[in-house]
Amino acid sequence: MTIDPQTLISLYQFKQHPDVCLWFENGIPKSRFQLFEGEKYRIYFPVHSSASYLPLICAHSDTITPTSPESIFRDGMIMTCLTPSNDRGPVLGGDDRNGVYIMHRLAIEQPDNFIFGIFDEEESGSLGVQTAFEVIRGLLPRISCFVGLDRRGNNDLACYSSRDFIRRPLNTPAFIDLLERNTGYFRAVGASSDVSRLAAEFRLSCTNFSVGYHNEHHNCEYTVVSEVEHTLNILRTKLPPQLWSARFPF
Ligand SMILES: [Zn+2]
Repeated sequence: MTIDPQTLISLYQFKQHPDVCLWFENGIPKSRFQLFEGEKYRIYFPVHSSASYLPLICAHSDTITPTSPESIFRDGMIMTCLTPSNDRGPVLGGDDRNGVYIMHRLAIEQPDNFIFGIFDEEESGSLGVQTAFEVIRGLLPRISCFVGLDRRGNNDLACYSSRDFIRRPLNTPAFIDLLERNTGYFRAVGASSDVSRLAAEFRLSCTNFSVGYHNEHHNCEYTVVSEVEHTLNILRTKLPPQLWSARFPF
């Protein structure tokens, strides 16, 4: 099934955490999840999963500008919001609505395969995810790794380094090798994201998948819808089974 760009455009109108969460929840099988909720996070744990372990997959609900784009223009599979040449104007918000969209589809199609997390205030220094640390600590024995859906481009597996050990990776080489082999995406260097905070806190490997937005944080941000769809398809069909049978501590 291909993505209807109008569906993505409808999600781009929402920038506030509760609104984005409501959009995510619309149509997902809520009875299959236990919801853990705080002011700045929602975590959906699949209570019927029989897997030994589960990837915690996450996206963020905030955007660098809190206002919605006035108009979104589409040329085929490319979408952007044109604003006056003013860097403080509203941005499209594919960062990180594209991640929320992909999670929404996975939650409908594969509700038992992931722990889903939506975190607010990533752009303010991952403040939302930090308020969820105690909940995640309680779920940790079931978590295999942390997977972010918050990376620009179309084929990156963003990797991070710990702040307390210079250049110490926040994953094991075997974890990234496994993902490169199975997904066809490639390791890249990331600065910071919610998954890097999670990995540093819990010493469990993370990576961050490209979700099809480009020029994030600028009014010339654009999304390539076919790239959003490609990552959705990779996550549906190409993740290695080891993510459900092993853990990846470092
Ligand atoms: Zn982001």
